[in-house]
Formats: sequence, structure tokens, C-alpha cells
Amino acid sequence: MKIKTKLTVALTLLFALIVMLAALAVRQVNLLAEDAGNILTANYQSLDYSRTMYKLLDNISREPKTPEKFQESLDLQKSNITEVGEKELTTDLQEDFDALLKDSANTTLVAKVRMDINSIMKLNMDAIKRKSNIAGDTAKNSILWISITSSFCLIIGFTLIINLPGYIANPIRDLTESIRQIAAKNYAQRLHFKGHDEFSALAKSFNTMAQKLQEYSDTDLARVMTEKRRVETLINNLHDPVIGLDEKNRILFINEEALKISGLKKETTIGKPAADVALHNDLLRLLLQQISTAPTKEEPLKIYADNKESYFEKRLVPISIIPTGESEAKAIGSFIILQNITPYKELDVAKTSFIATVSHEFKTPIASMKMSLQLLENERTGTLNDEQKNLISSIKDDITRLLRTTGELLNITQVETGKAQLHPEPCNVNGIIHDAVAATYKIAEAKNIAVEIKIEENLLPVTVDKEKATWIVSNLVSNAIRYSYEQSKVVVSAFRHEGNIIIAVQDTGIGIEAGYQQRIFDKYFRVPGNEKEGTGLGLAISKEFITSMNGTIWVDSAIGRGSTFSISLPVSV
Ligand code: ADP
Repeated sequence: MKIKTKLTVALTLLFALIVMLAALAVRQVNLLAEDAGNILTANYQSLDYSRTMYKLLDNISREPKTPEKFQESLDLQKSNITEVGEKELTTDLQEDFDALLKDSANTTLVAKVRMDINSIMKLNMDAIKRKSNIAGDTAKNSILWISITSSFCLIIGFTLIINLPGYIANPIRDLTESIRQIAAKNYAQRLHFKGHDEFSALAKSFNTMAQKLQEYSDTDLARVMTEKRRVETLINNLHDPVIGLDEKNRILFINEEALKISGLKKETTIGKPAADVALHNDLLRLLLQQISTAPTKEEPLKIYADNKESYFEKRLVPISIIPTGESEAKAIGSFIILQNITPYKELDVAKTSFIATVSHEFKTPIASMKMSLQLLENERTGTLNDEQKNLISSIKDDITRLLRTTGELLNITQVETGKAQLHPEPCNVNGIIHDAVAATYKIAEAKNIAVEIKIEENLLPVTVDKEKATWIVSNLVSNAIRYSYEQSKVVVSAFRHEGNIIIAVQDTGIGIEAGYQQRIFDKYFRVPGNEKEGTGLGLAISKEFITSMNGTIWVDSAIGRGSTFSISLPVSV
């Protein structure tokens, strides 16, 4: 049954009960009124007439009008006969009164009339008593019926009061709670309303919705789990070690490669703060140290794993997301990826040793060729014509360049293999600069470039490997000449600055774009468009040597205005 029908039935029933109660009350009151009316009209008036006749009887012989009045009351009594025997008694009274009228002094007749009146009065009095009893019974009946009906109404009304609000409110309360559960993602929540009313239809719709939500959530979860497993498998199968950290630097995952090289166990690592795990693991400690410090150009990590030395380049990838409804990115963790560069490193080592071998093997024959040329130039080995002299001079230039190149290649291989031997000793800056400039005399002359030397007086000596320091300054002066226009000037200066000695080589040549000023110190890097001969190694070697001698090297340059290369060296103490 529908709620609407149920409510209509309940309210109609209540209404019907009220009407029934009212009708019963009216009926019972009517019955009582009827009984009272009966007594009043039927008996009370007869008593009233009798009482009048009684009074008139005493004066019947004394006042002439009295018989007439007596007859009037008697006539009224005749017309108000209601009780059994009352008619006979009234007829007797009329007969006795008629007799009295004929003999008004007859006291026996007076007594007789009086008795007749008394009889009528007694009859009516008895009737009143009887009818009062009947009215009393009617009243009792009324009370009984009204009580029964009221109790019945009360029970029905009470039942409705108790049940009706709950009947409507309880399902609404259950529904509210269920909606709250669904909002809290408890999709297993169901409603169980019995019957066939609107609430059970509502429960059916709600349950269908909850089931669909559950199915959706299950498929969504299954999809997310599949994706998670896919990503985990992918990370596990990577040949590079990967460690995932959350925003509080707890270890979220660590792949097989990372476990292999670190010697860690998955079960004692996952979910633990990385700092705690690092207390007992050197590799993780090293990685965390590098994370917390500012990123610098690092040497590859050398790790002994799988019975061989492996080289790894560390990359820290911070992960941030923009949470739903927000606009700012929030850091949620980071990845440490160790890229296995062992194959490249091995190739690099092979390349370096090849270059070292080749340049070493070249050095001796080139030197002997230079010696032979010097002998050829000597008059004692024969006289040369001008053309032959020119040819020999050009071969000598080429040999000098070859020697310079093989020298640079040898130097860089020594730097790369860590075999560069430095012999630092207190050296005079003056000597270093003059030797370096002298070594570049020929190329300066060829371009008609004047090399000016400006050295501050009384400079303290610096602690350097003299040969290497001279080579570095000579390389800077030679670069300044090579990248300058003809007939320009190169200034080599030395001065004291904040406890160090600065040697600066200034030219007014082509200059270097700002974007390349750091990269020119990288191995094999040459500014694009540079058509001069060269290896791109001179500055890289210089930087390595200067750093090993506790100094620094840098450049100030602007396109078209020229460059100033400076080195700073600590003074000897
Ligand atoms: P390279 O043998 O090519 O000269 P370097 O390492 O000495 O190798 O120099 C690297 C690059 O820096 C050069 O190729 C050149 O492009 C640039 N460079 C070096 N010195 C100067 C300079 N004084 N003026 C302009 N460019 C220079």
C-alpha cells in the first residue's frame, strides 16, 4: 500500500472515530433529554394540575368561581393522561367532582374527591420515580458506551501517534545515514525497507545506485592496481637502479638493481625513513648526502657489484603534483635514479688509452723529425736553395703544431687517467710569464701582434708546477693571439689580489658569447663557427691543472670587444 493511501486511511479512521464518538454522545444526550421531557410533560404537569385542584377543593363552597377553575384543571388533566390507570382515576375524579357540585356541603364527597386527586398524584409520583430510574439507567448506559468508544478511539489514536511519525521518520533517518555512508565511500551500504510503498521503491533505487558505485569503484581500483603493478614491473625491470622516496624521505620502493648494488633487503627497507636505513648502508648514505647538498658537477659513482666495477651517474628527480581543486604544485617525493654508465665509461677508458698510446708513439718520431730538420738547416749538411729553405720552414711549422697537439692529447689522457704528475714548488711569476710569452713569439710576429707584459713589482712567489704553469699561460697567450685581429695588442699582467696572485691575459679579439663562456672549459668544446685550427683541449687541460694547483681560472669576454682570461694562484707561504 502506498504511503499516501496509508496516511489517508489513518486520518480517515481518526476522523471516523471522532464522528462516531460525537454521534454517540449526541444520541445518549438525546435519550437523557427524552427521559427528562417525558417526566416533565407527562407526570410533572399532572402533579401540577392535581396540586391546583387540591388547593381549590378547600374553597369550593366558599368562592363561586372555584368549581369553574377546578373543572379547568380537571380538563387539562384529562388531556394529559399518560399512565396506565390514570384515565380511570381521572374519570372517577370527574364523577365524584360532579357529585360534589350537586352537594357541595357533603364532606364525604370532598374527602372522596381529595382521595381521587391523591391517587392521581401518587400514580404520577410513582411514574416519576420509575422514569427517573430509567433516566439513570440511560445515563449509566451513556457513560458506558461513551467510555468504551472513547477507549477504542484512544487506543487507535495512541497507536497512530506512536507509529505514524516513526513510520515516516525512520526510513528518512535510515536513508540519511546510508547516504552518509556512501559519501564516506562505504559502497557496501544497503537499505532494507519492506513492503510495496514509496520507501521500498526508494530503497530499491538507492541499492541499485550503491551497487553501481561499488562496481565502478571496484573496476577503478582494479585498474589503478593493474597500473601500479605495471609501473612496479617496469621499474623492477629497469637496468638502472631506482629508489623512490615520499615527501618525508621514506623509502616507497626500491628496484632489484638498486637492491643488488646496495646490498639492501626489500623487507627491511620499504616504508622506512631513508636516513635510518642509511645509518647501516654506505651507498644510501652517500646518495642522501648528495641530495641534501647543492647540485654540483659530480664524478660518476664507482660501485663494486656483480664481481666488477660499475659506474653510475646519479639523477635526483623531484616529483610534484597539483592537487585537485588547488593551483599550486605540492612536492610528494622524489626518485633517485642511478644511470649505469659502465659501458660508456669502458669505451671512454679505451679511447683515452688509445689516444695516450698513439700520442706517445707519435711524440718520439715527430721529435726526431724536428731534429732532422734542424740538421738539414745546418750548412754543414749541405747548402739549401731558397725554395728548399721555405719548404723546410713550412714543415717545421707543421711539426711544431703536431708536437703541440700530441702534447695536448698526452696531457688530457694524463688528466683523465689521473696520471698527471705535478711537482709544485715556489716559482717566480715573472719567469713563468716571460717563458710563456717567449714560446708564442713566432705566432705573434706572424700576425704582427704586440704582446705587452705588465707585472706588479715585488710579487711573492707562487707554489706551482713551473712547467705546467708556463704551459697554461703560454696556451692562454697563444689563444689570445690566434683569436685576435692582426696588428692588435695582447697584454699579459700579473698583480696581487686578496692574498692571491692573478695572471691575466687580455686581448681585443673576436670575444666569446656569454652562453659559451662556461662551456669553453669543457673537453673538446670549441665555439661553433670557429675556423681556427685546434683541438678544444687547451682550456680543459688548463682548468684541470689549475684546480690541482689550488687555483681558479675564469674568463670575462664580450663579442667584438675581446676577452680576458685570468688565473688566480695562491702565494707561497
Ligand atoms: P682550441 O684548441 O680550440 O683553441 P681551447 O680549449 O684553447 O681549444 O679553446 C676552446 C675554445 O674557446 C676555442 O675553440 C675558441 O672558440 C674559444 N677561445 C679560447 N680562447 C679565446 C680567445 N682568447 N678569444 C676568443 N675565443 C677563444
